[in-house]
Amino acid sequence: MAYSSGRTYLAIPGPSVVPDRVLNAMHRASPNIYEGEIVEATYGIVADLKRVAMTKHHVAIYIANGHGAWEAAFTNMFSRGDKALVAATGVFGLGWAEMARKMGVDVEVMDFGKSSPVDPQRIAEALAADKAHAIKAVLMTQVDTASSALSDIAAVRAAIDAAGHPALLAVDAIASIGCDTLRMDDWGIDVVVGASQKGLMLPPGLAFVWFSDKALEAGRNSDLRTPYWDWQLRGLGEHFYHFFGGTAPTAHLFGLRESLTMMLDEEGIEAVWARHDRLARSVWAAFDAWGAGSNAIAMNMADARHRGRSVTAARIGNAGAGALRKWLETEAGVTLGIGLGMAMPGEPGYDDYLRVAHMGHVNAHMVLGTLATMEAGLSALDIPHGRGAIEAAAAAFAGGKTK
Ligand SMILES: *Cc1c(COP(=O)(O)O)cnc(C)c1O
Repeated sequence: MAYSSGRTYLAIPGPSVVPDRVLNAMHRASPNIYEGEIVEATYGIVADLKRVAMTKHHVAIYIANGHGAWEAAFTNMFSRGDKALVAATGVFGLGWAEMARKMGVDVEVMDFGKSSPVDPQRIAEALAADKAHAIKAVLMTQVDTASSALSDIAAVRAAIDAAGHPALLAVDAIASIGCDTLRMDDWGIDVVVGASQKGLMLPPGLAFVWFSDKALEAGRNSDLRTPYWDWQLRGLGEHFYHFFGGTAPTAHLFGLRESLTMMLDEEGIEAVWARHDRLARSVWAAFDAWGAGSNAIAMNMADARHRGRSVTAARIGNAGAGALRKWLETEAGVTLGIGLGMAMPGEPGYDDYLRVAHMGHVNAHMVLGTLATMEAGLSALDIPHGRGAIEAAAAAFAGGKTK
């Protein structure tokens, strides 16, 4: 008999849990899109989106998922044949690079593998060797959702500057914005891409590209630009109809207004980051305890300094991860993320990997509840594991120190 009746919980790295308040805000009749509330709200939303990324520059909103944000950034930044250096730390970085290549950008991939952050030193060396300044932009992923590797954006900007190189810095923050600390202007980021369904706590459907004046200038004559994705009108247009290049995404905007209010005006963005830090440390403490004394259970990122605070990728050997995911879903109503990019479906090892998301609208009872449910599954399935994980996770939440 299965015991999964009750509220289900989706703990995968996107889409994340949508707060009831946000769902309720979206549950409205279509508004007048020519004047009134939705028009006025949008100006405030644009201003608040800049507060989320900590920038005084610009933001363009698209009706798209994260892949749309990827493509939007490229159409505005590049001309066919431009050179880009992509620092990849997992499947998403590689995917972003592949998209650029397919669009006609001359892409050089610097692959840091599946369990390492970007090494800024290697970026500095590559740029120092580029005497002709052919590389137009360096691309990186703040948290690669497949590996959960967190890379140091400020250090990469420092490496670019130390090489005396004019390259733009573009960051995929889809899995990290609203979860991990991100300071676009302070860190010298030129382009940030994000999407609605992760830290911003909305259903999928909105994509965001924040861009600096420097990126705007550098891309002014980009020949990859197409009318729909043009960030000049989306981000700098004077009229409401410029923002969306067509009908406004009405329900999503009402939802976004609510989630931005929750994040910025009620909790505060620094408190949002601190909550994610505390919850991530609970998850890590549990995995440390489960994996103690054996190497069958281990987090993908060995060094806590290089772990993203929105998702934790881990290995539970002997197909334990697959069995545990299945048990959690059928017996307990909890869905964990599949492993991504470690082994392909059908390959041996595929069922050795999983990911636990802790992004967006999450608090201690959700995360500690998930961990305790995982502990129950490990016991039920006779998967060998170290003791004390739940105690350690609770202690990390109760007294968690911030790094
Ligand atoms: C989720 C994600 C994407 C892709 O977003 P989609 O909405 O699935 O297109 C890209 N990059 C990162 C880092 C992500 O986490």
